[in-house]
Amino acid sequence: MFAQPRTLPCFQCNEIVNDSMDVCPFCGVTIDRTAASAAAAAQDRVNQAYSEASYLRTASIAMFVFLGLSFVPLIPLVYSGFVVTFIAVIVMVVRWQVRFGELQTLDPDYQQANYRKNLALVLWLLAIPAGFVLSPTIKEIVNNFLFES
Ligand SMILES: [Zn+2]
Repeated sequence: MFAQPRTLPCFQCNEIVNDSMDVCPFCGVTIDRTAASAAAAAQDRVNQAYSEASYLRTASIAMFVFLGLSFVPLIPLVYSGFVVTFIAVIVMVVRWQVRFGELQTLDPDYQQANYRKNLALVLWLLAIPAGFVLSPTIKEIVNNFLFES
């Protein structure tokens, strides 16, 4: 049984090759299998970090969409959506940090993933006052205005 070949950038020319190749088809350099496998494993981690940070970005945007919609007093349940995504975002930030926070790489995808994770954390921190202090207050004002005149 052979594992699926994993991709990695060529050590010499940086074109994408895989660890089942003996020589790089682009520049002809010999590919060291052991080093290539280690590099491919590192590349897998970067790819994983990148895709999890993308989910995290989506979740933090959804959190603010739910929060925004919760200001409309006639839509029920969106505030629960906010609370659920609020919890999901911090769980994902912590998990990302634990799994990928110490990755040693200069890969720009990793840098971007790390940036997205930090941004999600900032958004989460902003969501605390916005969602738990401001939002209930605004909702009460809107409700009073609409229903108690
Ligand atoms: Zn090459």
